[in-house]
Amino acid sequence: MLKAPIGILGGTFDPIHIGHLRPAIEAQAALGLAEMRLIPNHIPPHRASPFCSSEQRLAMVALAAAENPGFVVDEREIRRDKASYTIDTLIELRQALPDTPLCFLMGMDSLLSLPGWHRWRELLDHAHLVVSLRPGWQPDYPAEVAELLARQQTQDPQDLHRHRHGHIWLSDNLPIELSATRLRALLAAGQDPRYLLPVSVADYIAQHRLYQPTP
Ligand code: ATP
Repeated sequence: MLKAPIGILGGTFDPIHIGHLRPAIEAQAALGLAEMRLIPNHIPPHRASPFCSSEQRLAMVALAAAENPGFVVDEREIRRDKASYTIDTLIELRQALPDTPLCFLMGMDSLLSLPGWHRWRELLDHAHLVVSLRPGWQPDYPAEVAELLARQQTQDPQDLHRHRHGHIWLSDNLPIELSATRLRALLAAGQDPRYLLPVSVADYIAQHRLYQPTP
C-alpha cells in the first residue's frame, strides 16, 4: 500500500515569491499532496551565483513555509557541498521514502529546458512531474519533451497516488507573471514588494538590507 504523494519544489529562491508559492499551494490542493517539501539549492548548476547566501535563502524559505500548512523545508542540497543536481536529490528521497509517490514541481520554463538537465531521462524513474503554467513560456515543446508527454502525461490525479513515479501532470494554476529576477530589480529600485512575497520574507529582506539600491 502506497502512502499519500508528496510535492517537492526545488529552486534558488533568491528570494522565494508568490510565483513559487501559489502554484505549489494549488498543486497541493488539486492533487491531495500530504506534504510540500521546499528544497533550496546550494550551487545552482545552470546559472550565475545567487545574490544572497545559501543561509539567507534558506531562512526566507523557512519563513514562507511556516505560514503554509503542510510545507516543510529540506536542507539537503544546501548541506551537500557540491552542485545541486535534481537527479541526486530524487534518488536520495526515493531511498528515504520507498513507499511514497514523489511529485516534483516545476514551472513551464523548466519543462521546456528539461532536455538540458543532468540525466534528465532518469528523473521520471524516481518521481512524477507536476508542471505549472508560467506566463512567457508557451507549451511549444521541443521534440524530446513532446515525446515524453505523449508517453507519460496523465489527466488523472489518481495516477499520482497509484504509482510512485513516471507520470506528468500539467496544472491549470492561476498564471503568475513574477520571477525572482523581476523582484530583485524592483527591490533594487527601492520599490515596495508588498503582495509579491510573504510579509515575513519582506520583513527579513528589509532587516537584512538585501537586494537594496546601491547608494
Ligand atoms: P530567477 O528569476 O532568479 O531565475 P525564478 O523566479 O525563476 O528565479 P527559481 O528559484 O529559479 O525562481 O525557480 C524555482 C522553480 O519555480 C522553477 O521550477 C520555476 O519554473 C518555478 N517558478 C518560478 N517562478 C514561477 C512562476 N511565476 N510561475 C510558475 N513557476 C515558477
